[in-house]
Amino acid sequence: MVNYLQHYISGFISLIYPQVCIVCGNHLVQSEKSICQQCVIDLPKTGFHLLQNNPVEKLFWGKIHVEFASAFFFFQKGSVAQKLLHNLKYKGNKEIGIELGKHYATELVRSSLIDTIDYIVPVPLHKNKLKKRGYNQSEMIAIGLSQVLSIPVETDTLVRAIENPTQTKKGVFERWENTYGVFTITNTQQFANKHILLVDDVLTTGSTIEACVQAIKQAPNAKVSFISLALASN
Ligand SMILES: [Zn+2]
Repeated sequence: MVNYLQHYISGFISLIYPQVCIVCGNHLVQSEKSICQQCVIDLPKTGFHLLQNNPVEKLFWGKIHVEFASAFFFFQKGSVAQKLLHNLKYKGNKEIGIELGKHYATELVRSSLIDTIDYIVPVPLHKNKLKKRGYNQSEMIAIGLSQVLSIPVETDTLVRAIENPTQTKKGVFERWENTYGVFTITNTQQFANKHILLVDDVLTTGSTIEACVQAIKQAPNAKVSFISLALASN
């Protein structure tokens, strides 16, 4: 009865304040949040989770070993993807991160890649930045993934120990220097013999991910896979 009433009330509220898709502006149906089904279908998806030796995996070749790596969709300036990521990162729209995480998870369950994953671990923010933004955008994606995949999110072990200056105007080598040693793990036993799925919002050079993987692998026999929502074209 209570559920029926809640459903009725939220239906009534949405009549007065209709929720719209942040991409196309069309009204959302009750099962949709922040983005409509058609705009999810229209995202420029990579399909890389079905492709061994895909471009995301190749980005790490000769640097670090990952079990598998992929990204949900391509990111270009001025694109729908940029709008979504901007909403997630700078406009306080946590829900879009959770929703996109759920949508990506429904694709990932079709591959056997995630079968051995023990924890989903978002790329951490430094505590000062977390305080400023109020949430970690990558953690929102991780929560969405977790809801569909039924794999726990773990946020206490991998930490960002050093606050990073802005990286936008630095060369690749400098960026590497900049991120090396920035991340650390607080408890090697937590990740020992575990397969970690590392999650980020946008993948650019991969230097941040390299640094995270190096930190996670301080745990004995830890394995790491990586996914991001968006893949920026370099
Ligand atoms: Zn839409």
